[in-house]
Order: sequence, then C-alpha cells, then structure tokens
Amino acid sequence: MRYTVLYMADHTQHKKMLEEMMVTLREELETIASYNEENGDWVAIPVAEDLGSADDNLAADATEEWGNRRALVSQLEMRFHSVKLALQKYEEGTFGRCEMCNEPIEEARLVINPAARTCKTHMERERELPL
Ligand SMILES: [Zn+2]
Repeated sequence: MRYTVLYMADHTQHKKMLEEMMVTLREELETIASYNEENGDWVAIPVAEDLGSADDNLAADATEEWGNRRALVSQLEMRFHSVKLALQKYEEGTFGRCEMCNEPIEEARLVINPAARTCKTHMERERELPL
C-alpha cells in the first residue's frame, strides 16, 4: 500500500479545493436559481414583478435584469458542472489526466484550475469536450 501511494500523484489538495468550489458555486446559484434534481439543470428564478408593468422603464429594467441573471446562471452552471465532473473523475481514478491525450495534466495548471480537463497542449480545445 505504502509503495503504491509513493508512485501516485497526490491530488488531495485539488480535491479539497474542488469541494470548496462546489460549496461556493452552489451557494451562489441558490440565490438566483433553482436546482432540478431530475436532470441536474439550474433554472434561473424569475426577477419578475415589474415585467408586466405598465411603466415602460420598470418593465425594461426587469427585462434587462432578467437577461443578466440568466447569463450569470449559465456561466455559474458551466463552472458547477466542470467542478462536479472533476470530482467524479477523482472518484473514478481518472482525475488529473487530459481527456484528449490521456497524459497527466501539468501540476501548475491544476493548481490554477483543479477542474481543468486537458493538458496545456490541448487547453484551446477544452471547449470542444462534451459536458
Ligand atoms: Zn492533452
């Protein structure tokens, strides 16, 4: 056991950071969205009341606020999913490997972004990966 551990990269710190990120993201999302347990999606909570307002200015403000909120939710949601995925990979024992070439992801890259899915060589193509 001791010898096995010696030859494995230690990702405990990254896991800890991912778990903290998960808590923070969940807290942020919960203030503006509700979580759908069935499909794992976050749905923005309507800003609402003024949307149907007879006052054009109030209605416009509400529409803009609603747009901003939805943009923020989808941004946070993407991060939420990538952190969740990284934690899943940790459980499966594939954490820290590039999803494109299967080589270990550089430690320096993981320190900055423990949810990284590719090595530095393939980081430009990370967005092509399916969620
Ligand atoms: Zn790679």
